[in-house]
Amino acid sequence: MDRIDLRSDTVTWPTERMRAALARASLGDDVYGEDPTVNALQRLAAELTGKEAALLVCSGTMGNLVSILTHTRRGDEAIVGEAHHTFCWEAGGMAVVGGVMPRPLSMDRLGRIAPAAIEQAVRDDDPHLPRSRLVLLENTSGGRFGAALPPTYLDEVGAIARRHGLAFHLDGARLFNAAVALGIPAHELTRAVDSVSFCLSKGLCAPVGSLVCGSAEFIHQARRARKLLGGGLRQAGVIAAAGIVALQEMVERLAEDHNHARQLAAGLADIPGVVIDLADVHTNLVFFALAPDAPLTAPQVAQRLRERYNIWVGAEGLRLFRAVTHYWIGSAEIDAFLSAMRTILTGSATG
Ligand SMILES: *Cc1c(COP(=O)(O)O)cnc(C)c1O
Repeated sequence: MDRIDLRSDTVTWPTERMRAALARASLGDDVYGEDPTVNALQRLAAELTGKEAALLVCSGTMGNLVSILTHTRRGDEAIVGEAHHTFCWEAGGMAVVGGVMPRPLSMDRLGRIAPAAIEQAVRDDDPHLPRSRLVLLENTSGGRFGAALPPTYLDEVGAIARRHGLAFHLDGARLFNAAVALGIPAHELTRAVDSVSFCLSKGLCAPVGSLVCGSAEFIHQARRARKLLGGGLRQAGVIAAAGIVALQEMVERLAEDHNHARQLAAGLADIPGVVIDLADVHTNLVFFALAPDAPLTAPQVAQRLRERYNIWVGAEGLRLFRAVTHYWIGSAEIDAFLSAMRTILTGSATG
């Protein structure tokens, strides 16, 4: 029985076309700027995000930290969402490495920080206070059901950042999921930001890599931060070759993942003992819970799925689950998952 892995879209292994592309990639030393495949990927990324330049980095976490280090000095403050990856899941990198203080603000169910709250959080110039320097947003919002922030909202926050002389960075790990869900080109989501990072290694299926995009001057400075963090790679064209395939061939098909997420969520809603709000399904992330009177905990259900069906799903706390659709999850895998869940929760395969 092949593993069905719904824990994340990071479990996606590369496609055959990626394996073929990386095997024959033209290579050079990218720290010297001489890897033609990296350079081609960076040009493509800059084009798609409507920025002057781009830089290949090892991971989304590195892309965010490179961007934060490039925008800030020690003692600066970054306005960030309470559930953002940069605040919750990056080992405190901005504070540990950058000496930057995060200022977490509350987010609504659609991943938005109220623009008025952002404006209110901007500090006065006062020696008691850290210097407000940066606004960080995230699209799609991983901590809020994978919701896509629309361009109108991003433009509004961009105007606030400009008015107060703050830099604006977008953690776009799943930027293309947002663009596809909204039916718009990615550059409409990045026109208001000074920098954006996005991952090749999630739903786009590449094995490794993220890009940071911004002005030519910003990327010039970002190269130093990347080097400082140990992210200057040599023949990185083997990574970039898969990344080019990811950007050329894997973006539009994200719509299939979003359809599959809705299919999976609708099936879960039919299973007694599952609590799910279909209005919370926006892209490829599906969050659901066990009913309060469920005889099993979420980790127990996840363990049975794994041991009896080789189906892997994220379980958190007593009742919460996350299932993520991606390239390697089709209708057959979703049906297998739904049938296993039904059997575990109700003791019957068909209901
Ligand atoms: C996955 C993710 C990252 C980090 O990416 P890694 O490549 O795992 O370091 C950053 N931000 C968001 C919103 C993510 O989902």
